[in-house]
Amino acid sequence: MKNKSSPECLFCKIISHELPSERLYEDDEILVFKDINPQAPFHVLLIPKIHISTLNDLGVENVGMAGKLFLTAKYLAESNDLEGYRVVVNTNQEGGQVVYHMHMHMLGGRQMKPSLG
Ligand code: 5GP
Ligand code: ZN
Repeated sequence: MKNKSSPECLFCKIISHELPSERLYEDDEILVFKDINPQAPFHVLLIPKIHISTLNDLGVENVGMAGKLFLTAKYLAESNDLEGYRVVVNTNQEGGQVVYHMHMHMLGGRQMKPSLG
């Protein structure tokens, strides 16, 4: 599903300030905020400001925004002195997705473990 926003969506509520979050970066297209349950010393979520449920709902019209998610991860790594980091997009139940507003996890600040799955 793809919409400007979705009333029941947790991350849409964070975007609209209905729910609080610790914001690191935002512009007209994307928002970056700290994960509430960090799995590493640095753990943020990079999300589109429009409601896109999963990576499978991304369209060609979203490639600029999607590219910006990656570039912003790079800039955040630089500004937070992260030597290395990992980005992950869990997709659908089998992919481990819990919140159905597409998001990119960015983890860093410690040695990542070899296992991905
Ligand atoms: P998923 O499993 O869907 O890829 O990841 C969802 C992530 O959202 C989890 O890492 C979880 O800790 C985070 N999260 C869930 N609810 C909230 C919230 O209300 N605020 C913030 N900042 N993060 C949340
Ligand atoms: Zn949403």
